[in-house]
Amino acid sequence: MDKTLANNKVEFHDNILTCFGKTFFYFESFSSLKIDDLEKYDAIIIDARDVEFTRIIIKKFRSHSNMEFYLKPLFLINNKVTDDPYIKELADGIIMSFDQIPETINDINQIYMKITRLESSPSSSFEIQVFKKALNFMFTREINTLKPITDINSTIGYCYPLISVNFEAFEEAKVIEILEWAEKEHLIWPDFQDRVYLCSNCKGGHLSFREICPNCDSANMRSEDLVHHFPCGYIGAISDFKNNIDTVLTCPKCSKNLRHIGVDYDKPSIINHCQNCNDVFQDYLVKAKCIQCKTDTDVQFLISKDINLYKLTKKGRNSAVGGIYTSDYELNHEIVGTLDFKTFSTMMHYEQERTKANVTLSSNLVVFYFENIFDLYKIVSKSKEKSLLTEFVTIIRDNITPADFICINNPSIISICINDVAFENASLMVLKITDMIEELVRDNFEKFEILVVSQVALLSKSQSFDKQIQSIIKELVEKT
Ligand SMILES: [Zn+2]
Ligand SMILES: [Zn+2]
Ligand SMILES: [Zn+2]
Repeated sequence: MDKTLANNKVEFHDNILTCFGKTFFYFESFSSLKIDDLEKYDAIIIDARDVEFTRIIIKKFRSHSNMEFYLKPLFLINNKVTDDPYIKELADGIIMSFDQIPETINDINQIYMKITRLESSPSSSFEIQVFKKALNFMFTREINTLKPITDINSTIGYCYPLISVNFEAFEEAKVIEILEWAEKEHLIWPDFQDRVYLCSNCKGGHLSFREICPNCDSANMRSEDLVHHFPCGYIGAISDFKNNIDTVLTCPKCSKNLRHIGVDYDKPSIINHCQNCNDVFQDYLVKAKCIQCKTDTDVQFLISKDINLYKLTKKGRNSAVGGIYTSDYELNHEIVGTLDFKTFSTMMHYEQERTKANVTLSSNLVVFYFENIFDLYKIVSKSKEKSLLTEFVTIIRDNITPADFICINNPSIISICINDVAFENASLMVLKITDMIEELVRDNFEKFEILVVSQVALLSKSQSFDKQIQSIIKELVEKT
């Protein structure tokens, strides 16, 4: 289908539209769900008549780890009214017809202009990676708050679309953890909105609350009024006073009919009767059964979480452009046999002087970049991050000499210095280390394929060490 619309401004050919030099891809509701080839278009127009389809496509773009995708301008056409928070919060606008495409050009230009200002160094932790994505989106769209929105698909009943889009619905509690982390890092500040209660086992929020028997935990119980007959002093369940014929209440002890509540009898409280174990009791327990993991918890042991509206702090607003610097990143001090970057850099400087002084000496600088390690951290949980890196360091240490040194730049980058070994031998050592790390991860994390890229270089005798390592890291990170 070829068409020219609206004063010849928009050209339409095979789902590709051109307008004022910008190219748009038109995603029809029956198109394939693949987005891999769409990086080259300036913007995407999604036919939104199918809500489920629209949600899937928006989620694919916004959850992507590559900025070219997750910041892509997305517009909806044939939009239906929906409560879906992803569709409402993560699209850039709605157009009524292709004739309105020229009106989107200004927004698209603004977004791309802001994208050029974003900082884009590799993230040093999973929290930073996820939160930086949200900050980048907010900066390019001029958004300053993270709003909780009720969401039937979320296991905790709420979602924060910008963060939640990176997780599955059952992982929503992780979104709360990311926000708590960001609050601790002073990137956002909270404004209380609501409170939710979560399963103490899996942090799910789909809970079924029941009043249960304290003796046998059954919810199969009946409660009825307790009746106190003043003239004879008898106290018993109201059913003892009833008959099958009329509504008159008769005292089972003295056989008198009851007349007026408050005058000759009273209902002092309620009595519960368990239909399962026959126990009679006044106070029942309340338990919450988790629909997700089936754990039945006494309500007092549920985890309560505040659902806040978060506003960006100044630090938060600046972090899109300046990068996120956290207060607590000290992994390198905790892993035995490794150096922090500052110490490593100093020692490499001395090493450079040593090799400069004697032409026969040389050192090798090696940088490992674990490209998808944050996907692995997502599976193994934050607490295992350190033990995993310790394992990597052990493998490295076993394959180099005791005089070589290891530096953990951040959880996705490890650098080492291999002294007095020929470049070819150092390269072989690196291959072996790579194989062993891949094998370790595969064997321990359900065949997870970790992507290890590395570079071996002779330590420069002319360029400064900091410059050399920076250019190696840049090359490794950008290559992937
Ligand atoms: Zn649970
Ligand atoms: Zn019972
Ligand atoms: Zn009586």
